[in-house]
Amino acid sequence: MAARTDRTDDPALAGALLLARRGQAYFSRFLRDLRDEELDAPSLVPGWSRRHIVAHVGLNARALTRLTAWAASGVETPMYSSPAARDREIDLAATLPATALRHLSDHAAIHLNVEWRDLDDASWGTEVVTAQGRRVPARETVWMRTREVWIHAIDLDAGGRFEDMPAPLLDRLLDDVRAAWSRRRTLPPTLVITDRKLDDGRDVPPHMDAGVVGTAAAVTRWATGRGAAGVSALDGTAVPTAPVWL
Ligand code: ZN
Repeated sequence: MAARTDRTDDPALAGALLLARRGQAYFSRFLRDLRDEELDAPSLVPGWSRRHIVAHVGLNARALTRLTAWAASGVETPMYSSPAARDREIDLAATLPATALRHLSDHAAIHLNVEWRDLDDASWGTEVVTAQGRRVPARETVWMRTREVWIHAIDLDAGGRFEDMPAPLLDRLLDDVRAAWSRRRTLPPTLVITDRKLDDGRDVPPHMDAGVVGTAAAVTRWATGRGAAGVSALDGTAVPTAPVWL
């Protein structure tokens, strides 16, 4: 039987789960407030309607549920059988009747949450493999979900803003983007964050050339490929396109 509270008592993990659940609530609120016919409109992701976003976020919960079940059972179950299969599944689910699409989103999220609640501390440490092929402990599924629900809530283009994100989430997202850039051996642009203290050493620019300046929310929006609102180029020219993140 499903535990009604989380089995883990690790405070860091409890905090991470809270941020993921707040993000799910944030996403679900915008989805609930959209009328069925409004789902057909474009999202902020090029080539995707809001329907694609809802389908993708629902299917992402299912995929992360597979990783969580893997950690609990030891039986390897990948997120997706292939990138092409993932894309086909999104395209297909995006054509569902609105009620079914909403049902997919809600139930996949609930199912993932139930799996998370039931995971014990040992299983949270079990290694699983992400869609990008990285080996990570199962607790990473919480962060993977967190960034999906918060960012795609904004992608619904229904009123969500990076400025709504809690500061620790923005900081973690920027760390995540920087780590992805360095894995790709991309020369990272300098990011100057105007609403963070500089004395932690992270955001002190080594040289004022390629890069952008703005609030943590604006720079995170830019760095995650969601536009240049609120950022300026450090060298005073046009704001560059951010290197690819995911
Ligand atoms: Zn996504």
